[in-house]
Amino acid sequence: MGFKSDIEIAQETKAKDIREIADKIGLLEDDIELYGKYKAKIDYNVLDRIEDKKGKLILTTAINPTPAGEGKTTTSIGLADAFTKLGKNVITALREPSMGPVFGIKGGAAGGGYAQVIPMEDINLHFTGDMHAIGAANNLLAAMLDNHIYQGNQLNINPKRITWRRCVDMNDRQLRNIVDGLGKKIDGVTREDGFDITVASEVMATFCLSNNISELKENLGDIVVAYSYDGKAVTARDLQANGAMAAILKDALKPNLVQTLEGTPAIIHGGPFANIAHGCNSVIATKMAMHMSDYVVTEAGFGADLGAEKFLDIKCRIADIKPDAVVIVATVRALKYNGGVAKDQLDSENLEALEKGIPNLLKHIENITKVYNLPAVVAINRFPLDTEAELKFIEEKCNELGVNVALSEVWAKGGEGGIDLANEVIKLIENGENNFRYCYEENMTIKEKLDAIAKNIYGADGVDYSSDAEKQIKEIEDLGFGKLPICVAKTQYSLSDDQSKLGRPTGFRINVRDLKISAGAGFIVALTGAIMKMPGLSKKPAAQRIDVDKTGKISGLF
Ligand code: ADP
Ligand code: MG
Repeated sequence: MGFKSDIEIAQETKAKDIREIADKIGLLEDDIELYGKYKAKIDYNVLDRIEDKKGKLILTTAINPTPAGEGKTTTSIGLADAFTKLGKNVITALREPSMGPVFGIKGGAAGGGYAQVIPMEDINLHFTGDMHAIGAANNLLAAMLDNHIYQGNQLNINPKRITWRRCVDMNDRQLRNIVDGLGKKIDGVTREDGFDITVASEVMATFCLSNNISELKENLGDIVVAYSYDGKAVTARDLQANGAMAAILKDALKPNLVQTLEGTPAIIHGGPFANIAHGCNSVIATKMAMHMSDYVVTEAGFGADLGAEKFLDIKCRIADIKPDAVVIVATVRALKYNGGVAKDQLDSENLEALEKGIPNLLKHIENITKVYNLPAVVAINRFPLDTEAELKFIEEKCNELGVNVALSEVWAKGGEGGIDLANEVIKLIENGENNFRYCYEENMTIKEKLDAIAKNIYGADGVDYSSDAEKQIKEIEDLGFGKLPICVAKTQYSLSDDQSKLGRPTGFRINVRDLKISAGAGFIVALTGAIMKMPGLSKKPAAQRIDVDKTGKISGLF
């Protein structure tokens, strides 16, 4: 198409020494651990020394996306660069990419065009190894659980009621359901088992929702791994695993500092998916960023029905924070997709489809402004083939309805292309009106909470439960976990749990087929529709295009 690829742009940019970036936010050399020249981990103990700037928190979310993603990360980075251009003190706090989607559809998750974080190759592939540490902690618990049963099963664990699964940071459907412990008596206990992708592991969620290492250790101890023959919950603490798990995570828990193409500090830490997990970077990273700068731009995954809902109802509750403004990213492409246009037809002008897709945007705006009572602005993320007529159409629609809107051109122009958006955001923050409220209260029953999410956020008529789900609800409430917030696992493509229902569907119900207690993370997972915690690769995975040359230079990430 004549455009430079993301990786080409990133590789052309001369990165600053990470110590220079650290210095910008008041960090001394002793506060950081260098991972080469361009990455560093930040010691969480620095917060005791540095004065709290009590930064304003800006949440970036979006409409329901197309399969390629719609530019929340790109917009967050570009917006942060625009704040820098305006002379403000800013940090962007983002999630660590999982290699599943990097090798699957997305090909990278470090922003795009002239709004990227670097070194993008490292960030996309292994980074500082946090993801592997989280996988190792998860799998240590699995190994200790099976060993416990093999060694005599003092806790009376029912092997048919093991809820803990192994994990790996890869899209690998082959591992979704397995039988392990095959072989002789010394080879373990044969049972059905399976793998989730690491970003869906409860260890990832617990890691992201703990305020410090001591809390992490205690929270890991609360993880329920199985039930005994007499129905008692068996925890990681019962297996005496949580101390070692926290030890594995000691370094991973330190937030990672990198930079944007324009030298804005970026903290990238923790990365649960938003469809099968809670979808936000770590609480430690967000709070650290708010402590060290005046503005923080952070992203919650997928559409506002998933990432933002969980950010607001789970993360904000657990961390006791709230956003000061919300940016809702919309694209001409995703609106046309929501208007029923096929993936490969999104490049041609189609005002009719755009009009049909716009109700999706309006629903998300309503959710943020009316359900959560938060100030919001729509960012139209401009793609190269968007036509003037299409862009104007969205803008006019927003104006008609009194919705704040700004065109964002950060992908093509970097921070310069985000100045209008930044000014809109500053205006919202300075207006100062913020009567944030949750979508539901924790002390409601599980069904009442799910009802509130389904009706208020998704626009459903109600929720139906499988008989398994009914049993789970009773058990979770009997065990005393009923007062936790809910983390819904749902398709990202639709406001409903059916990915073919695009736009703003009505007249549908949500189907909850299973529930699981995540006592360590501090929420209850409700699985809807056909959503799975281990994705597969597509027919043409992005991995087929990724390569490395004899100098070690990587290509094909985008
Ligand atoms: P999200 O965070 O919403 O999943 P990303 O910011 O990761 O989305 O962007 C998804 C993909 O779309 C990336 O490959 C990025 O380079 C590309 N992209 C984002 N914004 C634009 C744009 N305005 N023009 C062209 N490509 C874009
Ligand atoms: Mg993203």
